[in-house]
Amino acid sequence: MRESPFTSSPFVGEVEPIVESDAEIRAALAEAEVPPLLPALAYLTGDLSLLREGLRPDPLLLGMPQGGLTEDQLDEARALALEVLIRFRDGGCRAATTPSDADILKIMEFAVGGGSDMAPYLPLLEEELAVRGEDRRAPSWRKADVAPDVDFEVVIIGAGMSGLLAAHRLKQAGVRFVIYEKNDDVGGTWLENSYPGCRVDNPNHNYSYSFAQRHDWPLHFSTQNVLLDYFRRCADTFDLREHIRFESVVRSATWSEVDRRWTVQVQHADGRDEAIEANAVVSAVGQLNRPLFPDIEGRESFEGPSFHSARWDHTIDLRDKRVAVIGTGASAVQFIPEIAPNVGELLVFQRTPPWFGPTDNYHAAVEPGLRWLYAHVPSYSEWNRFYIFWKMGDGVLAGVRVDPDWEPKDHAVGLFNDMLRQLLTAYLDAEFADRPDLREKVLPTYPPGAKRLLRDNGVWADALKRENVELITDAIREITPTGVVTADGVAHDVDVIIYGTGFQASKFLTPMTVTGRDGVDLHEHWKGDARAYLGVTVPGFPNLFCLYGPNTNIVINGSIVYFSECGVRYVLGCLGLLLAGGHRALDVRKDVHDEFNQRVDAENALMAWGRSDVNSWYKNEHGHVAQNWPFTLLEYWQRTLAPDPDDYQLID
Ligand code: NAP
Repeated sequence: MRESPFTSSPFVGEVEPIVESDAEIRAALAEAEVPPLLPALAYLTGDLSLLREGLRPDPLLLGMPQGGLTEDQLDEARALALEVLIRFRDGGCRAATTPSDADILKIMEFAVGGGSDMAPYLPLLEEELAVRGEDRRAPSWRKADVAPDVDFEVVIIGAGMSGLLAAHRLKQAGVRFVIYEKNDDVGGTWLENSYPGCRVDNPNHNYSYSFAQRHDWPLHFSTQNVLLDYFRRCADTFDLREHIRFESVVRSATWSEVDRRWTVQVQHADGRDEAIEANAVVSAVGQLNRPLFPDIEGRESFEGPSFHSARWDHTIDLRDKRVAVIGTGASAVQFIPEIAPNVGELLVFQRTPPWFGPTDNYHAAVEPGLRWLYAHVPSYSEWNRFYIFWKMGDGVLAGVRVDPDWEPKDHAVGLFNDMLRQLLTAYLDAEFADRPDLREKVLPTYPPGAKRLLRDNGVWADALKRENVELITDAIREITPTGVVTADGVAHDVDVIIYGTGFQASKFLTPMTVTGRDGVDLHEHWKGDARAYLGVTVPGFPNLFCLYGPNTNIVINGSIVYFSECGVRYVLGCLGLLLAGGHRALDVRKDVHDEFNQRVDAENALMAWGRSDVNSWYKNEHGHVAQNWPFTLLEYWQRTLAPDPDDYQLID
């Protein structure tokens, strides 16, 4: 059919040839996500005249439905696309040769609406899209070639999204590894969180591995079961299960300077302890999986059932019960609308209201026409991935950055941030127009971006307006055997308490004990203030690599899969450096690490989450932003392409 395959993913077949009628194509185009469509068609045909100036999206409106394009623009773009697809079909569905870099750059510039220097993004885009079948992030070396006689084994801790990824790459490089996973299956957070309504809040076309994209996601924002299935399929497809020891908890890892190896102490399900020697340890334990229960007086005294959102107790029948939910963060706003119609009464205890980005298709199936287009228009699904990558990442970073010329105000940190605040306020105003009492309570008073921006399609207001739901904003004073007492002295008796109170995100790598050079304990070294170089390496802890480590979290919903892919490539680069150079260990230089962290801290102070005093899990007990990456996604990619040997002490 075509000169080259248009998919690298094991999860989708080749893009199918178009045999449908003109009318059927037109019908499908009516459901198209238009902004990435013309870029895809220009890429497919090599015809850059499709990128008409009048159809270019406004970069400031990319976050709006259809990138803010007007109905007239949408009609014109669809008509143009129809002509192209009819010609493509009638010509035997033959793609033009890959456009030149200069042309791809022009296509990218059009896709993002202009106004940004896209040249540095070109190589990133080619990797991230993997349009023509290459997995460009795969390791460029194989152990059998660079160090065939060296005995080398890696322990990976965790078989969630990052651990599976690290395993896949190590397998590609031919490096021996074993994964220890505390649960009885893969999937990490997508296995543990089974609360009603749990779903990803980043569109799936972006929240998936670049080398295992799906064009046929059933929903725009998949539910937990779909994602769990995806990661299970990844484990199967990449033959990783045989390397995983399930129900095996890593208790400690201890570095031996003499042997240049880690001893990893593992406790298996049968209670058996095992000590494993490894040349390197990759921690892929995630940030958000140790439930945080609030430190509220009397919490243990409650006599009814209570549980945390990430440990949902499905045996508790909530029907007709009086239920208290503590917290209105990302998890709670997903499960509250789900349980509200099924419980007797629901008391929602809110400390800080979240901002919501209006998202009409948050719960929607991918429209049949759009699915058809993803399946039949080569590169369209991938250009959509790029469009999401941009509009939810670097394209909106300015919206959460402190503007130095902005007269300080508590509720906004700059002009763009204030514009965003107005848009989000207008949404809440509209949603709660008929309930000024609630509107007062749900309107945040801190800058958008200072806490995680959540998504909503109207279900939040619907839930809070229900007769059986009460939103309580008085502080909680204590928990008693029968319920929750607020600061105003009111005792709210309930049958069940559900904690949507988040995770111990700042306690990186806990509760493991990690002992590095000179017997230094990692947690004593960090003193509750975790830092790492590029989120990956820590001075004094040779051959220890963290994934989703300190300062690699993203605030404005980029995809953490992207960070893991960058981090894993860097780890593989480090291992390649060791093996090819005949070294046994590497330890990041303290000055390099410190200088990097100073930059990170300085930049985080210039972001909404660093500037605002509002409480958030982005700050640790020292008030330090230990979670977030403040720079562009591009910069993380650039910095993790390959380790600079000068950043490290190489140990033989
Ligand atoms: P979270 O965002 O940290 O929310 C915790 C909630 O509990 C907040 O409303 C917090 O109030 C409240 N809270 C904590 N301690 C309290 C106390 N002592 N008294 C009263 N309220 C208290 O936790 P989460 O919702 O589980 O989400 C954590 C992160 O997981 C998210 O930010 C996101 O990165 C990830 N996540 C992602 C998804 C997704 O992609 N679909 C879904 C769920 C979670 P304050 O705001 O005042 O602290």
